[in-house]
Amino acid sequence: MAKEDEIPDWAGAQEFYSKYDPKEILGRGVSSVVRRCIDKGTSQDFAVKIIDITPSDKMTPNEIEEIRESTVKEIDILKKVYGQDNIIQLKDCYETKAFYFLVFDLMKRGELFDYLTEKVTLSEKETRKIMRALLEVVQFLHSENIVHRDLKPENILLDDNMNIKLTDFGFSVQIAPGQKLNEVCGTPGYLAPEIIECSMDPHHAGYDTAVDLWSSGVIMYTLLAGSPPFWHRKQMMMLRQILAGKYEFNGPEWEDRSDTVKDLISRMLVVNPAERFTATDALNHPFFQQYVVAEVRHFSPIRKFKVICMTVLAVMRIYCNYRRAKPVTKEVIQSDPYAVKPIRKLIDAQAFKIYGHWVKKGQTQNRAALFENTPKAILLSIAAEQDTPLHTW
Ligand code: ADP
Ligand code: MG
Repeated sequence: MAKEDEIPDWAGAQEFYSKYDPKEILGRGVSSVVRRCIDKGTSQDFAVKIIDITPSDKMTPNEIEEIRESTVKEIDILKKVYGQDNIIQLKDCYETKAFYFLVFDLMKRGELFDYLTEKVTLSEKETRKIMRALLEVVQFLHSENIVHRDLKPENILLDDNMNIKLTDFGFSVQIAPGQKLNEVCGTPGYLAPEIIECSMDPHHAGYDTAVDLWSSGVIMYTLLAGSPPFWHRKQMMMLRQILAGKYEFNGPEWEDRSDTVKDLISRMLVVNPAERFTATDALNHPFFQQYVVAEVRHFSPIRKFKVICMTVLAVMRIYCNYRRAKPVTKEVIQSDPYAVKPIRKLIDAQAFKIYGHWVKKGQTQNRAALFENTPKAILLSIAAEQDTPLHTW
């Protein structure tokens, strides 16, 4: 007689396939694949994350058990956060010994990562909308003592109205108040310094929810600059930059950005987690304060005249400054075309159009290489990737 654990339990899979029709692949992870699927009853579109835990040569039994445990944790957290506006909703869930099927609302506009690649950089206004929603979600998660641990543009999806939906709670964990974590997980470019320290020091005091604020700072910087604050072809060098909190606002993209936005980023990218902004601190920063519409005042005729004079003077001053602006000559364009803003925008947009498909996600993210604007830099980057084995986290 066969032992009970040798009998495959296909019931969950059968139930899924009887209700849904799986279609094309939308995304892939280490052990999961996400497909569009159609509810056969209602013809409505959904996304299904199929997590494969079949025994195979590629994974040890230990690794399979780890994936199983983290999937159970992911489902548990998805149920806890159900109903939050900017978090993806788990609609349905099926389980067998070999697979998990997690059914979500379909986000047809895909990842924030791809949207950024298409737009190259975002305006402060658009960044404000995205970051406010993200920080409100983080504030909610932290109020429940949930640490996401993998905040990045690949895990932020966009709905039909361009509202964000946070997804991928695969590394998320709910901690007890005051509890510290030591496990090293996340995506290299978004790792907080204290997580890297944990990987180097087994006696480290650990980390907590503050790591999500560091990753949020990295995301915010990337949305505005088009490239991440910490990046090096050699991963070890990038980790060193993170440990030292070494980043700059000195690319041409930062010339037009306000001091307010730079100030907020610099309060999130603080190496010491105790001094780093919390989600609530960030949401209270002037960058997020609503523009207050001034109350309508009734001016006297003299006051009205003064306002008109001041407006005329201001217009004259702007016009004169404009006339004095350095003309864009053929020589300037030939010697340093990248210094001319409209040309720079054109070059960046074209580079992303041609090489956008090459911008990699996750561990080997190379978006920054496209901003170096030399074919040599891109070739070097490809060569370095082939030479340097990358850590898996
Ligand atoms: P992993 O843990 O493997 O990274 P994710 O949950 O992040 O899995 O999903 C992987 C990718 O699949 C996402 O980055 C996204 O591109 C796509 N994806 C996931 N969920 C959805 C969804 N609900 N709608 C559209 N695309 C999705
Ligand atoms: Mg993911």
